[in-house]
Amino acid sequence: MKKLSFFLIVVSNALFSCSKDDAVVSTATVSAIACSSVSFSASANAGVVYSATATVPYAGGNGVAYGAGSSISSTGVTGLTATLQAGTLTTGTGNLNYIISGTPAATGTANFTVSFGGQSCSISLPVSAAVVLPAVYNKIYGASSVTTDGTWVIIKSTGLPDHKSVYYATSNPLYENFSGTTFGGNTFAKNPNTIAAFNYTFKIPLHPVAAATHATTPMGPMGVAINGVPLFNQYAAGGAALSGEIVSFDQGYGHPQQQGGYHYHVEPIKLTAIKGADALLGFLLDGFPVYGPMENGSLATGLDVYHGHTSVTADYPAGIYHYHFSAAAPYLNGNGFWGTAGTVTY
Ligand SMILES: [Zn+2]
Ligand SMILES: [Zn+2]
Repeated sequence: MKKLSFFLIVVSNALFSCSKDDAVVSTATVSAIACSSVSFSASANAGVVYSATATVPYAGGNGVAYGAGSSISSTGVTGLTATLQAGTLTTGTGNLNYIISGTPAATGTANFTVSFGGQSCSISLPVSAAVVLPAVYNKIYGASSVTTDGTWVIIKSTGLPDHKSVYYATSNPLYENFSGTTFGGNTFAKNPNTIAAFNYTFKIPLHPVAAATHATTPMGPMGVAINGVPLFNQYAAGGAALSGEIVSFDQGYGHPQQQGGYHYHVEPIKLTAIKGADALLGFLLDGFPVYGPMENGSLATGLDVYHGHTSVTADYPAGIYHYHFSAAAPYLNGNGFWGTAGTVTY
């Protein structure tokens, strides 16, 4: 009985290993790597931080597991490394995954000579020209950074207003006492919250386009003002009308929520006082710009149910869809985003 089971083990090893001898197979081998059929999970631009997976097909895998590789530096365009991720070969065809990361130093082709399982070839990653951030985004002066990866504009900010507010702690140089009349002629009534800093990251489309279906705007940040302060929609918590909150708008027509996140629902008058009532005041998450209530010397007209329209603006001489602030509800956005919204984290 013992002899029989030993015999079976030998036979099964021989069957599954496809090996010419009886030794236990432990080295991953392939018959070919097709570097020319590589695919990348993202495209690369000169001078822009890159992180993506290169998927390289192989043939003739022997079913053996393999560990992660050491990093391989790029030649040609330098500044990148490729690192094989651990895996298990299929028996036959499959894919090897390499993580490519770093910052490509120039435009051109980054090459990685990879060796695996007895084969080697060269992966070629095209690196396109550096993506230039359009000048209009430099108007977001209150952001700690504004960058682009060619698909998104990434705006980071603390959300702290650059103007005085009764909601700053009294020890803050930007604290200013406030009483009297606020937005809509209402008598100001302070809410119990104090302004706090956040780490906002807004990702908005670099090339905004109209959406087929117009998603409703979220509660919380739905856009960012040029001073880095989040823009909120026309609703209070739970989707209730904003009327109860309006009395707590400070002298800049903003206020903090419970965690101290300062925001505007309506025209930020401290900004329009400096920039002008027809100025670019921010962007919603769908990448479309937000303007003050005025246009060509009078109140903007012809706004649709999303509270915007398409026309030439000072920043977009070819014309663009844009939102306007208004004194009456919905103040900034109506039935939802005109385009497809990006994301915000904080
Ligand atoms: Zn609010
Ligand atoms: Zn307009």
